[in-house]
Parts: sequence; C-alpha cells; structure tokens
Amino acid sequence: MSTTCSCDSGKKWFCYPCEQLICESCKIRHENHSMEESGSLQQKLSSRLPSAIKLCVQAIPNLQDQIDHVDTSVEEMERRVNALKDQLKSRFEVLQAKLMVHHENLRQEADNFLSNIKDKSNQKKELLQTKVSTIESIRDRCHNDDGMDIMDSLKLDDHCTRILDDVKNQSSIIHKIPVICFSVKDNDFEKEIGELFGVLRLDVEERQYKPNKSPLTKSSEGLVGPKLAFPALPVRTGQKVSSIVQTSSNDIIIGYSTNKVITFYDRNAKKQKSRELPIYVQSMTSTSSGAVLVSENKGSKVMKIESNRIELFFDASPFKAFGVLCSKLERVVYVCCQSDEHGHIYVITNEGKLTKIIKKSAEGEFLFQKPHRIAEHSSCRILYVTDPGQKMLLAINNHRQCLFRYNGGPERSNFIPIDVSFCPSINCTVVTNWKGNSVHQLSEDGSFMSLVVSQRDNLLYPTTLLFDCLKRIWISHKDKVTVLKCNFTTS
Ligand SMILES: [Zn+2]
Ligand SMILES: [Zn+2]
Repeated sequence: MSTTCSCDSGKKWFCYPCEQLICESCKIRHENHSMEESGSLQQKLSSRLPSAIKLCVQAIPNLQDQIDHVDTSVEEMERRVNALKDQLKSRFEVLQAKLMVHHENLRQEADNFLSNIKDKSNQKKELLQTKVSTIESIRDRCHNDDGMDIMDSLKLDDHCTRILDDVKNQSSIIHKIPVICFSVKDNDFEKEIGELFGVLRLDVEERQYKPNKSPLTKSSEGLVGPKLAFPALPVRTGQKVSSIVQTSSNDIIIGYSTNKVITFYDRNAKKQKSRELPIYVQSMTSTSSGAVLVSENKGSKVMKIESNRIELFFDASPFKAFGVLCSKLERVVYVCCQSDEHGHIYVITNEGKLTKIIKKSAEGEFLFQKPHRIAEHSSCRILYVTDPGQKMLLAINNHRQCLFRYNGGPERSNFIPIDVSFCPSINCTVVTNWKGNSVHQLSEDGSFMSLVVSQRDNLLYPTTLLFDCLKRIWISHKDKVTVLKCNFTTS
C-alpha cells in the first residue's frame, strides 16, 4: 500500500498523517486521510509564521535563565551527592568496625574452645596413664609374688575386671570437631548487605520520593483493603470479558472477545439487555453523544454503535486494532494498532478520517511494540498506553515526548500491563498487572504509589478495568467481573 507520490506533476495536496505533498492523481490512495490544498495551507502558514517566530524570539531570555539554572542545580546536586557519599563512607566505617569486633569475638570463641579441649584431653591422658601404671603394677606383683593368698587374688581379679569394663565403655575419646554455622548463605550476601548497608535510589528526573509506609503490605494487612461494591458478576465459562465501558448515560457495557454480543448493566450491576454485534470485541470507548465505538478482536475494524444503528467508523487494515479511546476534549479518536514489527496509534477525526500517526517519539525512536490499551489525562495532554510487548506503561505528551516509562515498580520482575485508566478525582493512573494479579496506582509523574488491589484480594489474571463515576473499579478477571470500592493513597 504505497502512498508516496514521486510524480513530477504539480503537488496540489498536503496529507496530514503521511506528512507529504501529493498530486491530484495520487489523492485516491489517501482516501481516508485528512488533507488540505497546498496553496491555501501555504497561505495560512505565511500569515501565521512571522508572529510564531516573534513569540519564539521572545522566549530566548527565559531559555537563558534556564541555562543558568541548569548550572546552579548541577552544583547543588554535586554538593548533595558528596554529602551522600560522606554518609555512605561513615556508614561503611561503622559496619566495618562492628564486623571487625564480631570477627574478633568469633575467633576468640574458637580459641577458647580449643584450649578447653586441650585441658580436658590432658586430664584424660593423665587418667589413662594412671590406668596403665596400675595394670603394670598388678602384672609385676603377679610375676614376683608366688605366695599370694586367695583374698589378694580375688581382689586383683576384681580390679582387672573393672579396668577392662572401663576400657570397653570408653572406646571413643575423639572429640567432635565444631562446625561454623553461618545464618547468612553465600547467595544471601547481596540481600543481607543491602539490608545492612542500605540502597541508593537515584533518579535523574529528580522525582520526589515520598517516604511510603511499606505500600506493598497495605492491602495485605487488611486495614485499607478494597471492599466489594456488590457480589461479583459471573461470566459464563469460556467467555472472556475484553472491555468494560460506561456510557454518557451511566450504563455499564461489557464486551467479550469470545462472543459477538455486548451486555448492558445499570450502575448497580443489574443486567438490562444484550445486543448482538457483527464482530468480537477487543476494546470499547464511549462518545459524548451517547454512541459507543468498538474495535474488532483479531481484526482491523472499528464500529460505531448508536441507539439503533451499527456502522463502520474506521478500518485500520492491514493492521490489527486494539485499544480505542474517544478523547474528551480534542474531538479525536485514538486507535492502538499492532503489526508484526512496531505498533502505532492512529489519530482519527470524529468523521472517521485519519489525521495523525503516533509512531516515533520527538527524538525519532519507535515508541511502541504492542500498544494494547490507551487512556488520557483529564487535561487531554497526556496519553497513557500499555505495551505488554515492552512490559511497560508509557506516558506521552501531545508533542510525542515520552514523559515516563513505568516498568512495574515493586513488581517489575513480573509485570505484564494490560489495561490503564486515569482517575480524575484522585489525579492518578491505575494499571492492571496481569501476571502479578494486581492493580497499581501511580502518581502523575509515574512513580509507584500503592497496590490498589493485590493477589490477596483473590484477583486472578486481571485484564480490563473501568473506573466508574462513583469511583468504583470494575475489573474483569478469571470467570468474573468484580466491582470494588477502593481506598486510594492520596499524596
Ligand atoms: Zn502523485
Ligand atoms: Zn495520506
């Protein structure tokens, strides 16, 4: 599907998503793309550019200030890092001194043990020597004295029997060699030393690390664990919930990747009705006009569902469509697309015309591998995209700059992010971790705040979630949809 125009004839059109000038005859290949006549675009630009340049020039003093600020902040940082190194050094010296004392104590103990053994062994040797002398004197008496009377003989016989018994019973006089008992194993060293010596948390972004009171144990302590809003909604065996969405009239719609149907519930999770669809559901989003856009599971279509109409809204072929999101302010629809190589996000107008492709960052690097689900900040200036391919949650601003990449925080070793949602009332992002059976709450700058839901809450393989208008979280996981009233950490 080549859309490039290398024709020599006049290039009358500018195609926005392709960022390219094209001629009249190539226009047909850009059928679904948003475009403008190059003449009128040039006119617009030449009237707009002078004032834009003037504004930029005015920004130079501000930039100079920032340059100065960079220097002073680096100096300040150097001072702080050096103070940190002093702390590290004194901590090391304390540990070293303590370790030395401990080492000396152990050596002393071993020495004491050995000299004790030597004393006891000498005593034993003397005792044994006495026995040998006794036996020898008995032997000598027998040889030299023929006229021993019967009483003496009996006494000697008795003596000999006792000595022999004694020798038999004392067969082993070898002491057991002591063993060293280390409670710290070789492969524990890293952990133990980290615990003793401390760890450094360094961040070039100068994020404010709040002293979190062990966020991981929060829900496990049962103090602030989530409560069920109502009994879990059962899902028929074999059915997989792939999307949960709330409409502008507050209905909840559940879609399935295994069944061409959607089911409607009211806010209290009472089932209202079902509706048949021509496609399996991958993801859904609601528009302000009450319509719902549905992306096709294992397909490229995005359908628009209105009260009694279902029509094709956009076709992303040859790519597969994943998460869809109708932006609240910008009057555009985002569609996550996946191919075999790099994924991208299509930006579609309300009329279903492609207007932009988000693929590379402002720095020219590919942003996505498998973009899966998408959410936006209430300002509409930040997009949050889960990428299970990269095992990351990405935040991107409207200049395609990557603000952060969240790799699972405390669960980074088993983090597979699936769905993401922004909660305006608490100004934070929540993301499901399919592999960790949990839901993470992140602050605006992308640092971990808490586990809103964890494995202890009987959540198994959570996939999609909805943060509803009553601040409850609807989460689909194995064979059910659970609705929870959550306690969020507030900063
Ligand atoms: Zn052409
Ligand atoms: Zn085009």
